[in-house]
Amino acid sequence: MVMKPALYGPVNCNMENCEKAATNYTAEVIYDHFEDNGVYERLENNYVEGTTVAAFYSEVENCEDNYDFATVFYKGHSWLPWGPCYEGGSAHYHYCLVDNDGFDEEEENRIWDNWIHDKLSNRVHGFVFIWSCFNDEMGEVVNYDHAYGFPASFFNRSDLSDNGYLYWDYTDLCYIGFVNVSKNFVDTTPTDSNYGAFCRTFYDYATSGYNIFLSLYYASYVEIGCSYASSDLYQGYTVWHNGEPYPSRQVVYGDGGMYLPN
Ligand SMILES: [Zn+2]
Repeated sequence: MVMKPALYGPVNCNMENCEKAATNYTAEVIYDHFEDNGVYERLENNYVEGTTVAAFYSEVENCEDNYDFATVFYKGHSWLPWGPCYEGGSAHYHYCLVDNDGFDEEEENRIWDNWIHDKLSNRVHGFVFIWSCFNDEMGEVVNYDHAYGFPASFFNRSDLSDNGYLYWDYTDLCYIGFVNVSKNFVDTTPTDSNYGAFCRTFYDYATSGYNIFLSLYYASYVEIGCSYASSDLYQGYTVWHNGEPYPSRQVVYGDGGMYLPN
């Protein structure tokens, strides 16, 4: 029997109170789904206080060094692409997540793509779900040890299917993120549910023996009222900010046919 850990570090600074409550509740529900599943040797809910920069990197390192599968769920905020950086020869931008303290101009107080990549050793991270804005860049590994973009940083490769929902690449790796602006958990769906419920229902299926594709498919039917491919998450939606339109959508990269250990 191979034991497998899960890791997730939701964070909630700079959110309205109702969104914080929905995020906290969702983190607990997801934790419970993994716990009920029973095969995960290590589970951490780092909601708010636990999502420090140091803890995030050290969890990645711990999972890489000691377990044979790891999964991450993060809910919170992202910085806009940061750069350009010229390491490895060509200009690229880095991506970072907000830690427990919220937005902070100090660069060392952010969770960086390349610092995550630095902690990899055995490539055990298999499923990464980041529910925040501006994190759809697949990225690349340049110079062997320098990466940008979350998929490339967690998986050490950047050749994943860019529509892993419909076109599985059979890598047994999957990344879910957002182009531009992510939905709030409290935003209502056409069936008067909300996207937090969609996320919780997704994990209910995904920890119960359904692959990523079917978990998205059923969660969408239950909470949004249509197939995932017909949903606004997949088809896209526009968020207006300061008078500017941000065409946004959820992305699924890699292998929609993969199963979380169960
Ligand atoms: Zn760089």
